[in-house]
Amino acid sequence: MDIQNLLDDIVGAVEPLTLQGDVADYIPGLASVGLGQFGISVATRNGDVFSAGDADVPFSIQSISKVFALALVLAGDGDRIWRRVFREPSGNPFNSLVQLEHEDGIPRNPFINAGALVVTDRLLSISANAPTAVRELLRQETGNPSIDSDADVARSEAAHGHRNSSLAHFLASYGNLENPVEEVLEAYINQCALAMSCTDLALASRFLATNGRRSNGTSLLSPLQTKRINAVMLTCGTYDAAGEFAYRVGLPGKSGVGGGIVAVVPNNCTVSVWSPGLGRSGNSVAGVAALDEFTTRTGWSIF
Ligand code: GLN
Repeated sequence: MDIQNLLDDIVGAVEPLTLQGDVADYIPGLASVGLGQFGISVATRNGDVFSAGDADVPFSIQSISKVFALALVLAGDGDRIWRRVFREPSGNPFNSLVQLEHEDGIPRNPFINAGALVVTDRLLSISANAPTAVRELLRQETGNPSIDSDADVARSEAAHGHRNSSLAHFLASYGNLENPVEEVLEAYINQCALAMSCTDLALASRFLATNGRRSNGTSLLSPLQTKRINAVMLTCGTYDAAGEFAYRVGLPGKSGVGGGIVAVVPNNCTVSVWSPGLGRSGNSVAGVAALDEFTTRTGWSIF
């Protein structure tokens, strides 16, 4: 398989789609990112990296950070988090408030905003280096010490974060936060504002394709925990479009409103894509198409 050739082909194939969709302007710091950009990277389980297009342009990872926060909580605290967060698809937008009241303050899954706030809350409670634990994990797995939160994106999300504030206060009213609301929101927003390139994202996620093994050879997660995270990514990682994503791509994946998506081919590789134009559910239009093309041409889907 000539992966490099394939990625170069995919860049050409999705180019017209990179002008489709809309950037996430509800976070003002993301509104100025130009359409027309696209990057793709593959990191193999052995550490080889293949990249094409705008694969080295940093972008805001937003909700993709929720995977790393969950991994750290499972690594540090085992299954305890599942008493406070379900793991079923929500069928609702990622920032929806309605389900939370019906379900007594237990979010549907860790990848919608309400669930991620609970995960971040737990990370603050258990992590020695909170609230920068996610950033440190990314730096270590990529070997790139310059990965950081984009202060403008974080500030602008904080200034317009009424929905997330509502969700956090709502969770607190049900006793499902351990730390002060303001601290949880700050950690969550900074984690979402982390910026990195496709190449970094593929490398940072590689433990999901290696049964939980980190780049330094130690284990972050057990093979069972890795299986569990990948399963939740498959069913809940692309919000209320998770069914469509499974249908088209056939891999566990996690998207963010910065236009990035990371997908996992278990025991083989990670594939990251970035293109800022989003479809209705908040997933990158060109990114989903590129992953569809990738799994169709390689046959590397889990189905
Ligand atoms: N920071 C964003 C929010 O909370 C993340 C959403 C996303 O990427 N889907 O709204």
